[in-house]
Amino acid sequence: MSIESILQTVFGYASFRGPQHDIIEHVTGGGDALVLMPTGGGKSLCYQIPAIARQQAGQGITVVISPLIALMHDQVGALHEAGVSAAFLNSTLSMQEASDTERRLVQGNITLLYAAPERINTSRFLAQLDSLYERGALSLFAIDEAHCVSQWGHDFRPEYRALTVLHERYAKVPRIALTATADALTRADIIERLQLEDARLFVSSFDRPNIRYTIVEKRDATQQLLRFIRSEHMGDAGIVYCQSRKRVEDIANLLCDEGIAALPYHAGLDSKVRQANQDQFLRTEGVVMVATIAFGMGIDKPDVRFVAHLDMPKNIEGYYQETGRAGRDGQAADAWMCYGLQDVVNQRRMIDESPAAEEFKQGLRGKLEALLGLAEATDCRRVRLLAYFDEASTPCGNCDNCLQPPDVWDATDAARKLLSTIYRVQQMSGFSFGSGHVMDILRGKTTDKITQYGHASVSTFGIGADLSETQWRAVLRQLIAISAVAVDAQAFNTLKLTDASRAVLKGDVPVRLRVSLAQPAERKSRRGSATTSAAPKAPVDLDTAGQTRFAALKAWRFDVAKAHNLPAYVIFHDATLAAIAQNAPQSLDDLQGISGIGARKLEAYGAAVLAVVTGGMGVAYGNPDA
Ligand code: ADP
Ligand code: ZN
Repeated sequence: MSIESILQTVFGYASFRGPQHDIIEHVTGGGDALVLMPTGGGKSLCYQIPAIARQQAGQGITVVISPLIALMHDQVGALHEAGVSAAFLNSTLSMQEASDTERRLVQGNITLLYAAPERINTSRFLAQLDSLYERGALSLFAIDEAHCVSQWGHDFRPEYRALTVLHERYAKVPRIALTATADALTRADIIERLQLEDARLFVSSFDRPNIRYTIVEKRDATQQLLRFIRSEHMGDAGIVYCQSRKRVEDIANLLCDEGIAALPYHAGLDSKVRQANQDQFLRTEGVVMVATIAFGMGIDKPDVRFVAHLDMPKNIEGYYQETGRAGRDGQAADAWMCYGLQDVVNQRRMIDESPAAEEFKQGLRGKLEALLGLAEATDCRRVRLLAYFDEASTPCGNCDNCLQPPDVWDATDAARKLLSTIYRVQQMSGFSFGSGHVMDILRGKTTDKITQYGHASVSTFGIGADLSETQWRAVLRQLIAISAVAVDAQAFNTLKLTDASRAVLKGDVPVRLRVSLAQPAERKSRRGSATTSAAPKAPVDLDTAGQTRFAALKAWRFDVAKAHNLPAYVIFHDATLAAIAQNAPQSLDDLQGISGIGARKLEAYGAAVLAVVTGGMGVAYGNPDA
């Protein structure tokens, strides 16, 4: 079969997306590839279709290396649903299951084998690959989440370093490495570590146009989160990222108390609890996962409607990867972040206090600064995000700054006052002070500390009384963002001047800040009246009869998914069910053209779906000979 007909018959999709066609053609033809594509971009098909095509051409098995042990069962289940022979090998299998799979492997009876990277280190697995290789039955290696090989990536896995053996031992087998982490440092590291110097590089656009980016100033974070969920996302599946395990637990409890179905996920939970919570998130509708960054890699749930950051992530790569988990189905989704001065200080401190080498820390600080720049930006967030990945773009119309251009004030003068206060108190007392004290001086407060150090005589005392504390904090955040102020974690988070301070002091660097609104403006909901109810929403507008069909189809899908022990979206995506509900097909022919229905699913479920659509009233429909 051609790669086009595999796309259509096996996966039920009409056309390739973005660079998929070129990648698949190249890899099917035996070329090596490094694929950089954003989360949700469609990476899986880039190795699944070549695997099928090459198996059909008698070239044997594709081995997929993936760190996502907890998801392999579902990934393989999804391929089975599409009629593709697949299996996995990882530590969750019993001895019996593993040896059954190994037998099928040696017989060459599988198209795709998913394996955890640790396997590659075992002589047993290598011997099995050797035997396939000698028979010319080892077709392709796909290395998923390839950034795991790099310490610059955020998910470094030492086991990935062993993957060099694939190239050394099986030189004739093509390799495709895939990742959604795109910064230049990580990319170069992947190429070097995996010896992919000769591989063709495919870089997709990293834009995710359906995701709306919003970054708000932290006031009362939990109340802000609650308002955001209540006003826009009641009943939706979402992910809330928090910095610490304790905070994860607290927020999950709080959301539950507020009637929002929330579950915690962090590395400190028992692995059974973690797996159970993940399964519930994947298998039940409308669950909010409150998690540390331990959660999410490889989560391919298509209908996550929002990703919220209650604390600031470490860098833009992390932020982009995490927010990318929203809206894989292409429907409108939100990336919402809340951040404040404390986040900046905490992140700085974590870097400063880490035992890493200074050069490495410098890299981390640079990355943090880029993220601060994004958070403080008064222009299009997407333009900034994409620029970080070296992609030029124009204002998007779908981020907070585009939708509600913030009022901006010129804070250049204020910034100079703040810097000179830091300078003067340092001069006067011989050591530095923290942000609270510096702001008290600027605002002309007579605190005990100011009296104690005689700081009322500093020439900037009281010259900033016209600005509120919130405004001063914004000025300080911005100065930290551009490295004109350093926060010394080793010395009680005191503020220090840096090399970059001078230009700001001289007035050479304009500082522009958004005007903090006393009350955050009410955001207009995109969903109209449905937002306050927890009823499932259809991704397209359906009339009443359509809504009824959609609900019936969902109920049917729920039963099938349960019987197969798979998440519902593996059977059919919401978008597919909605298209069925809208078109009200009367025959298998009508069903066939709908996106997401391949030959196997048509055969397995076509009759049942038609029965559901027609109300199960025995309306005549073509019967498959299945
Ligand atoms: P990634 O691994 O890059 O994060 P996936 O491979 O999970 O993304 O794909 C994201 C979603 O897009 C999946 O639900 C997948 O079925 C769908 N998809 C991928 N390619 C196509 C295509 N050519 N046409 C329609 N849907 C597609
Ligand atoms: Zn924008």
